[in-house]
Amino acid sequence: MQRLREIAPGVLVATAEAYTTTSTVVVAEDGGCLVADPAVSVAEVAALAADLAAAGLRPRAGFATHPHWDHVLWSRDLGDVPRYAAPAAVAATAAHREEMIAQVRQAAPGHDLALFGRLAPLPAGAGHIPWDGPPAAVIVHDGHARGHGALFLPDAGVLVAGDMLSDIEIPLLDTDASDPLGDYRAGLRLLAAVPGVRWLVPGHGHVGDAGEFRRRVAADTRYLDLLAAGEPFDDPRCTVPWLRDWHRGQLRSVAGLTGDDPG
Ligand SMILES: [Zn+2]
Repeated sequence: MQRLREIAPGVLVATAEAYTTTSTVVVAEDGGCLVADPAVSVAEVAALAADLAAAGLRPRAGFATHPHWDHVLWSRDLGDVPRYAAPAAVAATAAHREEMIAQVRQAAPGHDLALFGRLAPLPAGAGHIPWDGPPAAVIVHDGHARGHGALFLPDAGVLVAGDMLSDIEIPLLDTDASDPLGDYRAGLRLLAAVPGVRWLVPGHGHVGDAGEFRRRVAADTRYLDLLAAGEPFDDPRCTVPWLRDWHRGQLRSVAGLTGDDPG
């Protein structure tokens, strides 16, 4: 695990070994903090909590970018604080709780399941995390998952992109949705239009600067265009078997969908 690193004033990122998963901490002036996506193993979440305590930082709120098991973890050491997510993400977590618990038991055993996925919906219409630290805008869209929420921290120019805009993963579509490609394109457009991004933090992968943000938007747009064309293609990010399998599955799925459409 790569321990907490300050990537911009008041924004810290830790990177877990599993899937190069990032956790982001936003620090308020009084030492309160917002913790997004603490991950992944029990030891890594414990180390994150210990590092925050050692630095005199006290979690005051949490945020889960989306309803997948590796983004809705928590530990008692992080405190009993509201853990927000978009309303659709809270609903999806409740609906899929049993299968998500099976996944966490298999991939990161030992977590306190009483705390797993215990999310509070952002108040209706709230475009920001309701806390008194630095402003944290929530950009909600579908595409990778229902109610996926990116965080944008305008003071620091940091976009916490959840499972979008990764340098090590292809776009992973929610193929159960009625329009996976359309949803993903709409989400990507929303993120691409965020003004003032100086640093990008993907949920899995490496922090990038403004140029890298643009490069990843272009790479993901290209991926979606090729996927829509329905012909086999390669992406340099398909470096491990599960990603190659997922890529082939998406090709099959999208080809099937376009095949159903006489237009
Ligand atoms: Zn995900």
